[in-house]
Amino acid sequence: MANKMVITCALTGAETTKQQQPALPVTPEELADAAAEACLAGAAIIHLHARHDDGTPTADLKVFKKAIDLIRKKTDVVVEITTGGAVGMTPEERIAPVSLKPDMASLDCGTVNFGDEYIVNTLPIMRQFASEMNKHGVHPTLECFDVSHVQSSHILIKEGLIKPPYHYGFVMQVPAALSLSVKTLSYMMDQMPPESYFTVMGIGRAHIPGICGAIAAGGFIRVGFEDNIYYSKGRLAKSNAEFVERAVRFSKEAGLEIAKPSDVRELFKLK
Ligand code: ZN
Repeated sequence: MANKMVITCALTGAETTKQQQPALPVTPEELADAAAEACLAGAAIIHLHARHDDGTPTADLKVFKKAIDLIRKKTDVVVEITTGGAVGMTPEERIAPVSLKPDMASLDCGTVNFGDEYIVNTLPIMRQFASEMNKHGVHPTLECFDVSHVQSSHILIKEGLIKPPYHYGFVMQVPAALSLSVKTLSYMMDQMPPESYFTVMGIGRAHIPGICGAIAAGGFIRVGFEDNIYYSKGRLAKSNAEFVERAVRFSKEAGLEIAKPSDVRELFKLK
């Protein structure tokens, strides 16, 4: 895996609306098309949230299952589902889709401000989520919105609830959470245990700095409408794939190969 860049595409998230970004995939069919396009463009992992057809976020197992099934029919991309869910969902709702046995799932490693809202992740919730993921053979992406989240993950590791190789997701520049800078990124990296990999998720205006930071620091890249809707100032991206294509160009210019889904399966020993 040395010299290979893993690109994750976060297709839709819970917050972005079709009013803001008309190309946002919402229905299971749209999500499957967007996943196939993103994979063809170079994404090895897609990060999945589910929505009702009217666009509101849902943790409904039927909707998740339909989306995952359709994605798997179209492409071999690694499927990572959210367990961050959406603001206001209960922990039980958020963790339920892990029973569908996606390849990977996000595991938020601490409570976080989300603009004016917040998402609660206490240690007991984190333990419960990690146990459920173990039970279903789902590899966690340890999403950290703050330095203390990386440190909290050490507790789960010590308790044997998370096994190496670890995959961290550094979510940076969420309003009212940790911003992205060389100092914050390198401090986050310094807290990781051995056998760790990390993906930089630069939100909004941190999108391109996040890509460049990942390349410079030896990390992986996440792009997609969950994190950002503008390709450049004032110009909406045409599709998730357009973001992936740019991340591929940046990575290749930096002398990196683009990882395939099979590379990620091998790297994280996915079931
Ligand atoms: Zn997400």
